[in-house]
Amino acid sequence: MLTTPLTTLLGIRVPIVQGGMQWVGFPPLVAAVSEAGGLGILTALTQPSPEALRTAIRETQKLTSKPFGVNITLLPTINPPDYAGFARAAVQEGVKIFETAGNNPGPLINFFKSEGCIVIHKCTTIRHAKSAQRMGVDILSIDGFECAGDPGVDDIGGLVLLARAAQELEIPYIASGGIADGRGLATALALGCAGVNMGTRFMCTVESTIHQNIKDTIVSSSEVDTTHIFRTLNNTARVYKNAVAKKVVELERRPGGAKFEDLRELVSGARGKVVYDIGDKDYGIWSAGVTVGLIKDIPTCAELISRMEREAEEIIEGLGKLKAGHPSLNCRHRVIKHEI
Ligand code: NAD
Repeated sequence: MLTTPLTTLLGIRVPIVQGGMQWVGFPPLVAAVSEAGGLGILTALTQPSPEALRTAIRETQKLTSKPFGVNITLLPTINPPDYAGFARAAVQEGVKIFETAGNNPGPLINFFKSEGCIVIHKCTTIRHAKSAQRMGVDILSIDGFECAGDPGVDDIGGLVLLARAAQELEIPYIASGGIADGRGLATALALGCAGVNMGTRFMCTVESTIHQNIKDTIVSSSEVDTTHIFRTLNNTARVYKNAVAKKVVELERRPGGAKFEDLRELVSGARGKVVYDIGDKDYGIWSAGVTVGLIKDIPTCAELISRMEREAEEIIEGLGKLKAGHPSLNCRHRVIKHEI
């Protein structure tokens, strides 16, 4: 049992959160994560309207009686969503845990707190984390350079960012970006985190509804298979390094650069969704973290979560033996017997 402030606050068994992912955070995955003891999170903007989100919440409630959350991400969009409508619908449907992320989250955070909800706010800098802490969020999700999607602009890797979080923050925080196994979970706990948030790892599970070809693509990828797009538009996103992503980067790097309008057709989320529907990895842009290099299988969420829990516990126990100078231990922590 890995009891942390996260498990206590959220009423979950294992300190693992499945972060909101566009076109991935649907009821079957969310319910499977929560049933397995972690916290599943529905992605609000994956639904076409607040009414559709209500239906997705009810569907999830039928699949699990365990806690789950809803993510609302505030980033530039081609068609601005009705953020307040999504938030109201989720609260009315009885959701008590929210993950917020992106620009100017103040009004959303205030709304959720006024409704007595728990807010996990995801951010990429200590400055933003402290500002969200002042706004009254309950948990911070600290997103390092390795993460899928928006990494911010400072390019600080998780190791330093999380150690800085330990120095600066007063509320519980979880590690986001770069975590896909028990080693990552144990490391995050050692860095003072109350748990971890994973996106890419959960894409590649049995219950994830994305096309099998994309799961297989992730399994066969290495850690150099992602890239950043939109650097020049101040909206950086880490995505899978496919033909479309390479084209976007090429256009951004041409003399005079590129405006969003020049990239719009290539990068639209509607096109990215087709990647997951038909399994063509080169059809559009899709988010992926550096952890694609760590992912070697497609387990059920229950298998993944219990394996990570077991691995982390074995590592923590092994580190205790290091202190005692136990001779059977070397720096690779051989206590993990189930290498994948
Ligand atoms: P979209 O089709 O509106 O845009 C595609 C991409 O272009 C996105 O990365 C978007 O941020 C970017 N973009 C749009 N307008 C831009 C502009 N004017 N300048 C610079 N970049 C711009 O996006 P989508 O993929 O359909 O996503 C829809 C919504 O879901 C957006 O609000 C997005 O922020 C959100 N989202 C959520 C998650 C999540 O995990 N919850 C992840 C990604 C996106």
